[in-house]
Amino acid sequence: MVDASPRAAAGPARVIFLGPPGAGKGTQAGLVARHFGVPKISTGDMLREAIAQKTPLGLQAGPLMEQGRLVPDPLLIGIVEDRLSQPDCGPGFVLDGFPRTLAQAEGFGTMAGGRHAGGLVVLNVEVPREELLRRLSGRRWCPDCQATFHVHNDPPKQQGICDRCGASLIQREDDKETAVARRLQEYDERTAPLIGYYGQRDAQAFHTVDGHRPVEVVFGELRGIVESTR
Ligand code: AMP
Repeated sequence: MVDASPRAAAGPARVIFLGPPGAGKGTQAGLVARHFGVPKISTGDMLREAIAQKTPLGLQAGPLMEQGRLVPDPLLIGIVEDRLSQPDCGPGFVLDGFPRTLAQAEGFGTMAGGRHAGGLVVLNVEVPREELLRRLSGRRWCPDCQATFHVHNDPPKQQGICDRCGASLIQREDDKETAVARRLQEYDERTAPLIGYYGQRDAQAFHTVDGHRPVEVVFGELRGIVESTR
């Protein structure tokens, strides 16, 4: 049983997740956010929402996302800056999927006069490549409420149907084989350098965690890390 019930805040919990696609960042970011009572900000979810709403951002991002390519930095920096300026981010936030490039990390560092990057905890989740491929190829997604399932690890009660809202589950375009290969390549070339960037910048705030363990075990370690920094 994962106990992510909210705790009273001690100080702002500002958390960034690093790690390749399929490492479990979204799941763990949700649990950490809930535990510390702060919003989870997933740029992937924000972009998928923009695509569903057919906004100008969604129209630009859609084709890139389907191919597994990253969306241009200025767009991402803009939407994250707007989101972090909202009052619910005052007690902190958990970022899932941002920053993903050095330019985004630099952009984040200067937002709000550097305030968002103060007291930051960086959680780098590592998972072997074969396991990432297994997780991504079995992932199923609800286009209505964005819940995710896995055909083996976390199947819905009724095959192909979302437990939460009853909609039909699909495989995301970017979880198909060619797009997955491109996403992993984008990760290796553009996101992995952030490990060195944050590791050198503030070694005490940077933590690498083995993500190839049960969800509740990984969460227990992450929770302890964030608690110890507040
Ligand atoms: P995710 O749900 O985090 O795996 O993101 C899905 C897709 O959204 C990625 O493959 C990118 O195309 C796009 N995306 C999400 N976050 C970012 C980001 N910070 N920078 C660029 N593209 C992003």
